[in-house]
Amino acid sequence: MKILICQTGRLSRLMRAAAVAPFFLAGFGCGVENHNAEDNDGPVVVTSFSILGDFASRVAGDSANVRVLAPAGSEVHEWELSPRNFIDLATADLVFTNGLGLEQWLPQLEATVPDGVRIVPLAEETGATVISIRLGDLRGEPDPHMWMDPRAAARYVEVIRDRMIELDPDSEEVYRQNARNYLDDLAALHDELTETFAAIPDEKRLLVTSEAAFLYFADAYGFDHDGIWGNNAEHEGTPQQIARIIDLIRDRRPAALFWESTITDRYVRSVSDDTGVPIAGPLYVDSLGRAGTGAETYIELMRTNARVISEAVAAGLTEGKS
Ligand SMILES: [Zn+2]
Repeated sequence: MKILICQTGRLSRLMRAAAVAPFFLAGFGCGVENHNAEDNDGPVVVTSFSILGDFASRVAGDSANVRVLAPAGSEVHEWELSPRNFIDLATADLVFTNGLGLEQWLPQLEATVPDGVRIVPLAEETGATVISIRLGDLRGEPDPHMWMDPRAAARYVEVIRDRMIELDPDSEEVYRQNARNYLDDLAALHDELTETFAAIPDEKRLLVTSEAAFLYFADAYGFDHDGIWGNNAEHEGTPQQIARIIDLIRDRRPAALFWESTITDRYVRSVSDDTGVPIAGPLYVDSLGRAGTGAETYIELMRTNARVISEAVAAGLTEGKS
């Protein structure tokens, strides 16, 4: 009798899911419906990774259902679609990716999304200035980590709002109001971070991480930035990469070295051992943090990063005076 609780409006979605993933639905009856029992009657919006999921959720409120492919804590560049991802994509009405090469698995995603469902590469549609990767195998390619500047994140939210209104005009006012509220929060976040970093002297504004994923962030807040490697899509921690960053650290003496939540701290620890510069972190860039990390939303993630960076630099300043 389970079929009786299926909402008829969802039947076409269920049919699409069944066509793509019969194995996962076999024997479930109305399983997709039960699987997402908390769903509202709005459209299904699929996002490629957790930070975009947060943006879309803020705009959607209770008027759309947001799904995330690469969940909090996972590595986004080289994600592989899970069985659940296939079902979510089969039921999607709209898909948001970052674009600019972030999702190395874009071809698999494109092959899975049903015909006629739009895939929107948010970073590419912001119209914001694209910064190039500065080192490594991908040098000169667009750096995808544009969301790390809250002013660019606001452009993402505007694109999400506009595309969701096109998809679901009945909820236009809700999406507009939700986006307005979130854009206010993002503007306040940018002011707050600018103030947090104002106390850091110019010569200490050097941010050395594992993946050099903070170019947009560094540009927004006046830091120099370097990393052991340029992008997580390339080989990580090669002897050449380690030797280059050790030379730079010996020359510039940053207050601390940072690593990111989705990668191992093994390489940064080895660089720290060789140079005597302490490590701090993790910083969050390619994913929201899991529950309890203090980085469960984009705004919390940016605040946590700002606190970790400013405390590490402050500790370095104190040490320098003793
Ligand atoms: Zn990255």
